[in-house]
Amino acid sequence: MGLLQAPNNTPVWVNENRCKACDLCVSVCPTGTLAMRLDEHRVLGKMVEVLHPESCIGCQECELHCPDFAIAVADRKEFKFAKLTDEAKQRAEAIKANGYMVV
Ligand code: SF4
Ligand code: SF4
Repeated sequence: MGLLQAPNNTPVWVNENRCKACDLCVSVCPTGTLAMRLDEHRVLGKMVEVLHPESCIGCQECELHCPDFAIAVADRKEFKFAKLTDEAKQRAEAIKANGYMVV
């Protein structure tokens, strides 16, 4: 919030120029909203992606844990976040079990 320009109607967004692909945000996301995708143009060969914005609950864990201020979450006053569902929790577990990569 405030660190990055907010795109319209988006719960969470990434500044790919700042992201070092460390996986931390994916590791703390309880909803499987985030996952890493392969990206051969990046130093580490991957980049974080907002895969399921419709599942984001706005917990801010990703933003709070990012060491590089590369991910930001919308303000609760400006975005209506989802509720946590079993499907989202299961997806988050599957992503973690897959080394934080897209499942
Ligand atoms: S925690 Fe920050 S630097 Fe690490 S992958 Fe997520 S957005 Fe990128
Ligand atoms: S705000 Fe919470 S649910 Fe949304 S992407 Fe970040 S960690 Fe995941």
